[in-house]
Amino acid sequence: MSEHFDVVVVGGGPAGLSAALNLVRARRRVLLVDSNRPRNSATLLSHGYLTRDGISPLELRKLGREEFLSYDEGTHWQTIATSISKPGEAFVVDCEFRGQQARATADVVLVATGLQETLPAIDGLRAFYGTFVHSCIECDGYGKRDQALAVIGEHADLAERALLLTQWSDDLVVFTNGSAEAVTEAEEALLASRGVRTDRRAIASLQGGREGLTGIELEGGEVVPREGGFVRPAWAGKLEYVAPLGADLDDDGLLIVDDHGRTSVAGLYAAGESTAPGPQQLIVAAGSGARVAAVVNRDLIGGLAELGDRVQ
Ligand SMILES: Cc1cc2nc3c(=O)[nH]c(=O)nc-3n(C[C@H](O)[C@H](O)[C@H](O)COP(=O)(O)OP(=O)(O)OC[C@H]3O[C@@H](n4cnc5c(N)ncnc54)[C@H](O)[C@@H]3O)c2cc1C
Repeated sequence: MSEHFDVVVVGGGPAGLSAALNLVRARRRVLLVDSNRPRNSATLLSHGYLTRDGISPLELRKLGREEFLSYDEGTHWQTIATSISKPGEAFVVDCEFRGQQARATADVVLVATGLQETLPAIDGLRAFYGTFVHSCIECDGYGKRDQALAVIGEHADLAERALLLTQWSDDLVVFTNGSAEAVTEAEEALLASRGVRTDRRAIASLQGGREGLTGIELEGGEVVPREGGFVRPAWAGKLEYVAPLGADLDDDGLLIVDDHGRTSVAGLYAAGESTAPGPQQLIVAAGSGARVAAVVNRDLIGGLAELGDRVQ
C-alpha cells in the first residue's frame, strides 16, 4: 500500500524545506523525502542567511523541518528516492533506506535534491575543504579577508572568481593546476594589472595541518605560502532517480525548467540547485523553493488559463 499526497518534495535542503513549508501553508498534503546530506556539510558554519548568519548546516535544516512538521499536512520520511515514474494518473515515488523500502504516490513532484560537486584531484585538498579552503566566495570571503589566498580551479570562470575575490584580499595567487583552459593570456594580463599572479603549474599537494593551511606545493617541490583559499569544484546533477520520467536535462545533467520551475514533464517541478543554479547560496535556494511552491499551488488550483491575459 502506498500513501497518496498532493505533492512529494524530494530533497530537504533549503529549497525543498522552503517549498514544503509554503505548500503545507497552502493546505496541500505534502511528503518531504530527504536523505539529509547537506551540500555544505563540509563546513561547520553557514553564512549570509538572514537571521541565521553563522548557523550550522544541520541546525538550519532541523529548524526548517520542525517548522514544516508543525503543520498537520506535513509528513517527513528520511530516506532516498530511488525512482520516480508515472505509470498512470499519479507519480510513483519509490524510496529505500538501509534495506527499508517505501512508496508514495502524488499529483505533483517537486525535485530539490541539489547538485553534486567534485573537487579537483589534489592531494590534501579535501582535508582543508570547508575550513581553510572554500568554494563559495560570497559565503566565506569575509572570513578569509586580508589573508594570503590561493584561487584554485580548472574551469573557464577562474579569472572571474579571482577578480571577485579581490574585494576580500589583495594577496591572491591563481593556480590553474596545469589546465590550459582555465585562464587565457588576456585574463592573466587583467589579473596581473590587479596585482594577482597566475601560476599554471600542476599542484602536488596542499600543505599544513590542524592549525591551518600553510602552502601550495607545486610539481617540482616549490611551496607557495598561503593561509587559505577558494577552489572551483565541478558541479553536476545527480538525478538518475528522475530518469524514468524522461525530463529534459542540460549539459550538466540538471533539470531544465521554465521561469516558474516547471520541467518538460507536466506535474514535475524543480527548485534550488537541481536546476541551473545561479548564485549558490542557501537563501537563494530557499527563495527558489518558495517561488516554485507558489506556482505548484496555482497550477493545482487550475483555471488560471481561462482568465486569459489578465493573469500575470
Ligand atoms: C562547503 C560548502 C559551504 C557552503 N557554505 C555556504 C554558506 O555559508 N552560506 C550559503 O548561503 N551557502 C553555502 N553553501 C551553498 C549551499 O550549501 C547551497 O547553496 C544550498 O545547500 C543549496 O540548497 P538546495 O536545497 O538546492 O540543495 P541541498 O542543500 O544540496 O539539498 C539537497 C537535499 O536533497 C537530498 N537528496 C539528494 N538526493 C536525494 C534523493 N535521491 N532522495 C532523497 N533526498 C535526496 C540531500 O540529502 C539534501 O538534503 C555552501 C556550499 C558548500 C559546498
